[in-house]
Amino acid sequence: MTARRVLVTGGNRGIGEAIARRMQSEGHRVVVTSRSGDPVDGLQVVACEITDSDSVDAAFAEAREHLDGDVEVLVANAGMTKDTLLMRMSDEDFSSVVDTNLHGTFRCVRRASTAMVKARFGRVILLSSVVGLYGSPGQANYAASKSGLIGIARSMTRELGARGITANVVAPGFIETDMTAELPEKTRSEYQAAIPAKRYGQAAEVAGAVAFLASDDAAYVSGAVIPVDGGLGMGH
Ligand code: NDP
Repeated sequence: MTARRVLVTGGNRGIGEAIARRMQSEGHRVVVTSRSGDPVDGLQVVACEITDSDSVDAAFAEAREHLDGDVEVLVANAGMTKDTLLMRMSDEDFSSVVDTNLHGTFRCVRRASTAMVKARFGRVILLSSVVGLYGSPGQANYAASKSGLIGIARSMTRELGARGITANVVAPGFIETDMTAELPEKTRSEYQAAIPAKRYGQAAEVAGAVAFLASDDAAYVSGAVIPVDGGLGMGH
């Protein structure tokens, strides 16, 4: 296993935190971002607001100091929801979710890729969702933002594949985190009934797929969408 320099956006809690701890346990050097930059036990945190290119730039510069070199593995995990039915969805409901999940990821990927091209090595892992491929009532904004990530990963694969850079997407299903804790109980049980595994996933199960994509074993995997959803999307 080659130890890498890893940045996980939104790695202070939920899925991002599980990814960061898994990567750290495998011997990688890891920095996580959160909006506040507040300390998190056992993790190196830098502040980053992914809707702001200057903030992204500053976070990468600070991460470079902590990691003692440029980011080799970017896990673009930060994201948000603002659910409401299409006919009630305001322009702001739509654009704020797209600006965070899609444009925010683009800002991080663009910032990371310069050093990856120079190093002729990079692993880019984007956190999409089963909803990006499956659709979901009340989530037109979120689904649009998450399916757009596949376009970014596949374009990167074509553009930068010859430079030793891979770009892949992990598409989790319903995972126990703050994000799904917000769902009404009726919605939670309906979703659970539809999942072939008949349970919600754990953040650590998503971290396993991310760890594989960052590993030496995944050097020839790029442009892929890896579902971690208990079978809900049937492999998409
Ligand atoms: P959480 O809501 O638990 O955490 C979201 C993370 O994103 C936090 O670290 C948060 O930072 C960060 N974040 C949100 N908005 C911004 C922003 N504008 N700038 C910088 N950071 C931001 O989410 P999960 O752990 O559940 O989800 C992680 C990722 O996985 C998301 O992209 C989500 O869409 C995706 N996903 C989650 C699923 C689930 O079932 N939970 C299913 C499928 C996909 P802060 O703490 O500072 O607010």
